[in-house]
Amino acid sequence: MERIGFIGLGAMGKPMATNLIKKGFPLVVFDLFSEKMEPLRALGAEGANSCKEVAEGCPIIITMLPSSPDVREAVLGKNGFIEGLQKGSTLIDMSTIDPIMTREIAVILKEKEVEMLDAPVARGVAAAIAGTLVIYVGGKKDVFEKCRPILQVMGTDIYHVGDIGAGEVCKIVNNLMVATTTAALAEAMVLGVKAGVHPDILFEALSSGSGNSFVLQNHYKNHVLKGKFEEGVFPVDYMLKDLGLALSTGSALRVPMHFAALAAQHYILAGASGEGKKYHPAVIRPFEKLAGVEVRSEKK
Ligand code: NAD
Repeated sequence: MERIGFIGLGAMGKPMATNLIKKGFPLVVFDLFSEKMEPLRALGAEGANSCKEVAEGCPIIITMLPSSPDVREAVLGKNGFIEGLQKGSTLIDMSTIDPIMTREIAVILKEKEVEMLDAPVARGVAAAIAGTLVIYVGGKKDVFEKCRPILQVMGTDIYHVGDIGAGEVCKIVNNLMVATTTAALAEAMVLGVKAGVHPDILFEALSSGSGNSFVLQNHYKNHVLKGKFEEGVFPVDYMLKDLGLALSTGSALRVPMHFAALAAQHYILAGASGEGKKYHPAVIRPFEKLAGVEVRSEKK
């Protein structure tokens, strides 16, 4: 089995790397916070001191980092991947970042004879732990096929969606759909409760109506109604980052993005109200406070 380098051991990267090592892939790991490498070391991974060192030792390198500047820094920065890369190696960036940045990096790597795939993921931390992520892959088909067995350890629903950057486009559109729905439901549910319907009855009644949705049945049922807005699970600030990616992509292509802009303002308000690190359905909290109601279940 090929040695895999894994950079970025946060909420998502840690369980994804764990699944790879449990399936027998020899792993070299790196995170800016060295304590994040310890649980992987305990499972047999080798710890590195920089992205450069990871690149020196591995033909396949996975990055799972917060945002575009982080990926740029890890790949092209001082002591970055580019300083240690080997010809013929492959970078799989699984972070959610700007597709323009993805394509820029791919061009630079191509000159060094390094292939790149963008492979951002959907479904979140529970799916990362279970190895059941959705993965949207952009890049050359033959490179994708070569990397498929690695991706299959982390995900069950894997789509090759086009050339480099296309994976990021799918992911950004996915999160645009989730964010606009979550923000719109915040307004709708607060209105229903403020106007006098009990949250449990409102939820049940709406679940049978044509307004039902995945977000109502997951984010609202399991988090808003239960008041579970835990930290360390895809926070308000990360959803705002992804809405920013949708807005900048729309702006570059002259595609009007009214709903993205409105949803972004909802998420900015939540961040400004102290909810930035909470799980993103916390976008409802400022609206609850303004209305003086809470959309919470009495069912345990
Ligand atoms: P996270 O903030 O929990 O973890 C990111 C990790 O990267 C941190 O441990 C940080 O120390 C490390 N890091 C940052 N810069 C680095 C560098 N230059 N070199 C080495 N390590 C570095 O983030 P996360 O929740 O794991 O998300 C990662 C990516 O996946 C983001 O792009 C996010 O949008 C996306 N995503 C997250 C979720 C989720 O539910 N959390 C779901 C789908 C997609």
